[in-house]
Amino acid sequence: MYKMRSWTLNAYDRWRLGETEPARLRENRPADEPSENLLQAIWQHQRLRRDDLRTLDGQRVRVLHPGFHNREAGPDFRDAVLQFEDAPSCSGDIEVDVHSGLWRAHGHEANPAYEKVRLHVVWRGTDQIPTRPPTLALHSFLDAPLEQLEQWLTTEPAQTAPRAALDGHCHPCLRQAPVETVHGILHQSAQVRLRAKAAQFEARARQSGWEQALWEGLFRALGYKQNVWPMHRLAEMLPEIGRLNAGQPSAIPAWQARWLGLSGLLPADLSRSNLHTDHYLSQIWSLWWRERDALQHLILPRTTWRFNNLRPANHPCRRLALAAHWLAAGNLPARLEAWFATDASSARLQASLMEILQPKPDPYWSTHYTLRSRNQDHTQPLLGVARATDLALNAILPWFQARIQAGHNSDTPSRAEAYYFAWPKAEDNSKLRLARQRLFGGAGWRWLRGGAEQQGVLQIAHDYCDQSNAICSQCRFPEFIRRGATAAEKG
Ligand code: SF4
Repeated sequence: MYKMRSWTLNAYDRWRLGETEPARLRENRPADEPSENLLQAIWQHQRLRRDDLRTLDGQRVRVLHPGFHNREAGPDFRDAVLQFEDAPSCSGDIEVDVHSGLWRAHGHEANPAYEKVRLHVVWRGTDQIPTRPPTLALHSFLDAPLEQLEQWLTTEPAQTAPRAALDGHCHPCLRQAPVETVHGILHQSAQVRLRAKAAQFEARARQSGWEQALWEGLFRALGYKQNVWPMHRLAEMLPEIGRLNAGQPSAIPAWQARWLGLSGLLPADLSRSNLHTDHYLSQIWSLWWRERDALQHLILPRTTWRFNNLRPANHPCRRLALAAHWLAAGNLPARLEAWFATDASSARLQASLMEILQPKPDPYWSTHYTLRSRNQDHTQPLLGVARATDLALNAILPWFQARIQAGHNSDTPSRAEAYYFAWPKAEDNSKLRLARQRLFGGAGWRWLRGGAEQQGVLQIAHDYCDQSNAICSQCRFPEFIRRGATAAEKG
């Protein structure tokens, strides 16, 4: 129950709040101490006497931008812009904790993910000695009583305000530019991205051949953002595996045993609790034993893999099981070539690729997400449409584009580009969501016509947002929109 309110609750308000704190902010805690969620919300909305802010060791600090709320592992806000005393402004991350002691208790000082933290924001603290990072205690800088802030943060204006604060300087320019001009710019940036990826494939193919370059691209795309490099490294082992096997074809279980063994993710012991899993592990180990000594030097340490915020369906073991199907079939590159050469209508592009990439149900992996998960009641396909789209946009079409570029035809729109621009939208992700919000505001999703335009947004974020900061300092993209509108339309 609130002790103090800035307005009298009407019946709707009481119903909305259930006469209690909002669920998202509720935690067991002393009455005069906010939850970490509430502290984060106060920071995000900057409900502070911003001119008075001083760290516990007495430095004046100005918040030029509070940063972007990070919903994934790591600091709570990314890329804030701060100014300490009269020093030049600096960009860095913000970690929010209720107590200052939690910085050490959580081991942040030794965690590389936190090395860019410039300010530790806490509720209350007494340390006056300089700390690294400096600590800002919010309790003496709120712009309203805590109870009032807690109530305000449940309202719609409070929910929408931070989204507006994400808008970049280019947002008004993009909003005012003719629609086709904006699509022209996105088309150009998407094309740049495709051609840059193609150039990477082309360079790799010069060293290792086109087929090997394709496998590396497919494995990278299966690794998502967390596990791109270990997946890439496994694909690099293919030539050596081929030499050891003297060109003998391998069945699906043999490939699965090889990948699980080489990845370092194969458990040494049976689960003793799941019969299906133990049966599968026994089979895999009986195959892996035969090759382990010869491949020992290639085995990756388990620590190369990242599992934070990973959906079980995207677990690397499951992705390697899928790759095992492709390799055992022995004809994936040839089937992709045939698919590419066929004039598919844009409506059939995705479905016809899925027919090639989606294997038959796997006796173990179609009913298990990981080697620790319980048996699923229903068969789960090893590959979904969203992942097939990622594979198409990031590996398969750039690979075909690379082959066209290598034939010195890079200036004419290619079949690979036609497929790329016809491809439907990919699944949203946090990077794309933030870039869309900064460029297009709340209407970002509606703006984008397909997967290529999403790639175009990511390219702009890479070329401009990543080179600037949260307050868009010295970003030249708005000027490009103003000046380049005509050129982009012709694009
Ligand atoms: S940094 Fe540039 S491209 Fe990114 S949001 Fe700001 S103005 Fe737009």
